[in-house]
Amino acid sequence: MEIIHVSAECYPYAKVGGLADVVGTLPKYQLKLGHFVKVVIPMHRTKFLYEHEWTVEHKGGFMMGSNHFDYTIIKEKSNELDFDLYCVDIYGLLDRENVYSYDDDTERFTAFQVAVVDWISKWQHRPDVVHVHDHHTGLIPFMMKHCYAYSHLADVPTILTIHNAQYQGWMSWDNSNYIPTFDTWQWGLLDWDNMINPLACAVKCADRVSTVSPSYMEELKTNANGLEQLFKAEFFKCSGILNGIDTEVWNPEKDTYILDNYSDKDADAGKKLNKKKLCKDFNLNPNLPLFIFIGRLVGEKAADLLPQTISDSLHQIGNKMSFLILGSGDRRVEDQLTYLTGSFAGYYNSKIGYNEKLSHQMYAGADFILMPSRVEPCGLNQMYALRYGTIPMVRSTGGLKDTVIDFGEPGGYGIRFNHASVWDITYSIHRAVELYDDTEKMTALRKQVMAIDNSWEQSAEKYIALYEATQKK
Ligand code: ADP
Repeated sequence: MEIIHVSAECYPYAKVGGLADVVGTLPKYQLKLGHFVKVVIPMHRTKFLYEHEWTVEHKGGFMMGSNHFDYTIIKEKSNELDFDLYCVDIYGLLDRENVYSYDDDTERFTAFQVAVVDWISKWQHRPDVVHVHDHHTGLIPFMMKHCYAYSHLADVPTILTIHNAQYQGWMSWDNSNYIPTFDTWQWGLLDWDNMINPLACAVKCADRVSTVSPSYMEELKTNANGLEQLFKAEFFKCSGILNGIDTEVWNPEKDTYILDNYSDKDADAGKKLNKKKLCKDFNLNPNLPLFIFIGRLVGEKAADLLPQTISDSLHQIGNKMSFLILGSGDRRVEDQLTYLTGSFAGYYNSKIGYNEKLSHQMYAGADFILMPSRVEPCGLNQMYALRYGTIPMVRSTGGLKDTVIDFGEPGGYGIRFNHASVWDITYSIHRAVELYDDTEKMTALRKQVMAIDNSWEQSAEKYIALYEATQKK
């Protein structure tokens, strides 16, 4: 099959979160299964762009409202990522350093989508499947089915994967002229609550919808930021497919980002050395259990609970542990986390910002990783942690529920709690400190979690089955 993934992010070209990891990895596994895979993203001005060679694949143009835009499609020359990576450039809109958070994101991502559909419409052949990811690409199924200029793509099956339903790309109906001329009888497909809602539109128009874990799919029927009724109505074509991890990139035996490589055979010693390095760099005591948090400092991740949790734990349980936080996001949380370093020097430290290398060192050197998320569609951190022998401590939600079993349960290996509350997290830290003191149990758990297979193999096949279900016999 010829599969086209369209996304705002793709690792290692441009990464903000898990979406990039998935779009950078799933295609590799689909290639291994014998399919022909292309990934298309905006031409963000990142290091990867400047460090690689590109060929111009196509040039075109389109009207968006009263403005004409030229676009260029370029392709990475060396095929370094195995799959074909294409970038879309639109002067004045996509030539930016960051992936998101510009005032004109609506124009930027609508234009990106128009360019992608326009380009595909110029091909001599049609792909077997167009796979779109999240709301930034959510108008594509509609454009392919209902925009007059692209009506010859109407029969090409489209798949939507929802990595996060909190963000939906809402746009005012005043901007409906950004979308190429469409069959106005179909306006209802664009609408949700008197706004154009690209995510809702994709749920309505795509042939199949998937989310990144089965539990999250269930949860969307009752908690989907306003789209609950839509998920109930469209449930017949929805399914949850758990994300995998790239076991080549995330491999403690070969990881070039970490100080000391190790396997499940020498995990205790390997982790100890990596922890020593981290603790030296961040002025922490390497003899205490080390708890980490890595991620966006936003409400979804319950990052706002971290300052109080750290402070309560160190006061109530005593100085029996240390914490290291890596992340960026909400300014108030960033400031609180920075401020705390003064109060708990030697037991707590933080690094505000994005740092891929440090994140690897943290997965390798930590004993426990905290994930108290209020919403977690899949979550990759817990799977990376398992691979590095770090015990995940997660709230029972979404993909966290599907990938972590509490060590108190038969066959369990992690720590689970029910509420995103300071009390629940602190209590779990208490359990973790007790567990850490049982060195034999910790050694056994490390070995056990490192052997868990969260690779993409199985999930990649499930996506292929989903595509096959959309092919006309
Ligand atoms: P989300 O996509 O909701 O942010 P995921 O758990 O699916 O969460 O994916 C997060 C990915 O981003 C992981 O690879 C994690 O290691 C990485 N990450 C998040 N924040 C940072 C950061 N500040 N520095 C380095 N890596 C980060």
